[in-house]
Amino acid sequence: MPNGVMVIAEQRDGEIRKVSYEIVSEGRNLADSLGQVVTAVLLGSGVKDKAAILGQYGADRVLVADDPRLETYTTDAYVAVIAEVVKANDPAILLLGGSAQGKDLSARLSARLGVGTAQDCTAFSLESGNLVALRPIYAGKAYAKVSFVDSWPQMAVARPNVMAMNEPNTSKSPEVVDVSFSLDDSALKTRVVESIRDESGKVDLTEADIIVSGGRGMKGPEGYGILEELANVLGASVGASRSAVDAGWRPHSDQVGQTGKVVSPNLYIACGISGAIQHLAGMSTSKVIVAINKDAEAPIFQKADFGVVDDLFNIIPAFTEEVKKIA
Ligand SMILES: Cc1cc2nc3c(=O)[nH]c(=O)nc-3n(C[C@H](O)[C@H](O)[C@H](O)COP(=O)(O)OP(=O)(O)OC[C@H]3O[C@@H](n4cnc5c(N)ncnc54)[C@H](O)[C@@H]3O)c2cc1C
Repeated sequence: MPNGVMVIAEQRDGEIRKVSYEIVSEGRNLADSLGQVVTAVLLGSGVKDKAAILGQYGADRVLVADDPRLETYTTDAYVAVIAEVVKANDPAILLLGGSAQGKDLSARLSARLGVGTAQDCTAFSLESGNLVALRPIYAGKAYAKVSFVDSWPQMAVARPNVMAMNEPNTSKSPEVVDVSFSLDDSALKTRVVESIRDESGKVDLTEADIIVSGGRGMKGPEGYGILEELANVLGASVGASRSAVDAGWRPHSDQVGQTGKVVSPNLYIACGISGAIQHLAGMSTSKVIVAINKDAEAPIFQKADFGVVDDLFNIIPAFTEEVKKIA
């Protein structure tokens, strides 16, 4: 009988991604209710010394697949290894983080395992010992409860930045186990030849704690100067609406929304953004939403916790100066 909660941890350049701690924490909560163990799986090259930290967030055991061919993520290699590890361990619940990598991996993995998967989940619970996943649908207008019918592992992917992380318990260390796996070179169809790093040093929007986002109301690329300055003093990342991206004012990697990134920061400041449903789809799970818009009827105010009806070119510089005084 399948048993236990398995969590697929994610690392980049040998550093474990925040979403991994979120799903380990969530896995811990579920496993405690079930009276079962949490097993994290970590793939990479030379990453074994990072495994222990997963224990601080709740993993009882970490299975490490260490191999130079796993240094950089490729769908072929990661799916092959993880599918083998999952089958060998037969977990009841399998959780992944919904980063770009996790979304890619989970789709192929669910096909390889022959099970369904609930994507973009914002909460997990249990009913009669089975996983129930909550996920936004219709661009966040409604929530669907997804349960699993006679299929294991019950597999779900968590939206990053939504689920609470446990406080790390530094006195806890998990059992760290090297797993053996067969990785047939002939099955590897892709090879990473070069990675081009974003040199801006800015935190990826999906992991940012604070996002200052600008739309068509910024009037042009130069308008973003005041947003960059506010972002600097707040330690925030800058996002954009699709109108701003389509106009060529910001790169596509900044786009928030249905066809951009889905973000859930603690604070989202929407500046000169009307609040179209496709934009809301990408940011409505933010913990606190502030809108600055000169149109009091703009739909963004229906989602905002706090709103300022005024010209953003007056408000943002004044706000930045106030933040500087207390920063
Ligand atoms: C299939 C599809 C997918 C889409 N995907 C996305 C997506 O991923 N993300 C996304 O954002 N959109 C997406 N869109 C586009 C979406 O429908 C909207 O067109 C877009 O979000 C509008 O961007 P905006 O709010 O910046 O511009 P507008 O709707 O033009 O709003 C600009 C706002 O700025 C305010 N403003 C102007 N000047 C000032 C000022 N000086 N001070 C204060 N306020 C000011 C105005 O009052 C207005 O509310 C998608 C559309 C489709 C059809």
